[in-house]
Amino acid sequence: ELDVRDLAVGYQGQVVVEGVSFKLLEGQIGCLLGPSGCGKSTLLRAIAGFEPVMSGEISLNDQTISNSASVIPPEQREIGMVFQDIALFPHLTIADNIAFGLTKLSKSEKTARVDELLNLVGLSGYQDRYPHSLSGGQQQRVALARAIAPKPKLLLMDEPFSGLDAKLREELVPDIRSILLHEKMSAILVTHDQMEAFAMADMIAVMDAGKVHQYGSAYQIYHRPETRFVATFIGQGD
Ligand code: ATP
Ligand code: MG
Repeated sequence: ELDVRDLAVGYQGQVVVEGVSFKLLEGQIGCLLGPSGCGKSTLLRAIAGFEPVMSGEISLNDQTISNSASVIPPEQREIGMVFQDIALFPHLTIADNIAFGLTKLSKSEKTARVDELLNLVGLSGYQDRYPHSLSGGQQQRVALARAIAPKPKLLLMDEPFSGLDAKLREELVPDIRSILLHEKMSAILVTHDQMEAFAMADMIAVMDAGKVHQYGSAYQIYHRPETRFVATFIGQGD
């Protein structure tokens, strides 16, 4: 379970995200939805451990991972990440890319886990290929497989589909949702696209100007918007 309590994050003393609180239960998929510049990536980077918090607290499975006094470094958080810019290692095969974080497994365990993941993301048989020989959508599937390979406690995705065309996005989004459900993995997706949020998430935080306007189930956000901004942003208002 991820618990964010009254969080403030900013740069050079300037507050960018303020008063943010939400909980994500184990296995749930959450979404940070809002217009450009509202602070989605800043909030996600704070959860990942790349930005210090000014006040408030973040805990993961009852362990405090960030408050204003202390920060657990990103590599110790057991959090996986997928970003917009697909950053596969170009000189490594697909199999070696996926196995990169599996340092504790034996060679045969690695091969088994890589096969399982390739199968899960629909790329069986691609293990010996190199990233440059895959399409953008296929590379993003490999990036997802690599991020979930070590079974992180939480997966963070910052606009992972924005470099892809609309048709590819449409097939990738429900696919990724079912992969995450299959792995029982908690995840947070950052997006400015409400359709993507509704297709992916159980829980949605609608953000504007550094604040969360409403946090609720996809159903609540869609049918019971609590502020004019939420209603307008998801296209229900005037
Ligand atoms: P987008 O949808 O365009 O990615 P976003 O919601 O992810 O936007 P952030 O990137 O979190 O927004 O930015 C929120 C605010 O913080 C913006 O005003 C931005 O200019 C500012 N900001 C982001 N990164 C930094 C930084 N490293 N130093 C200073 N200000 C920053
Ligand atoms: Mg962003």
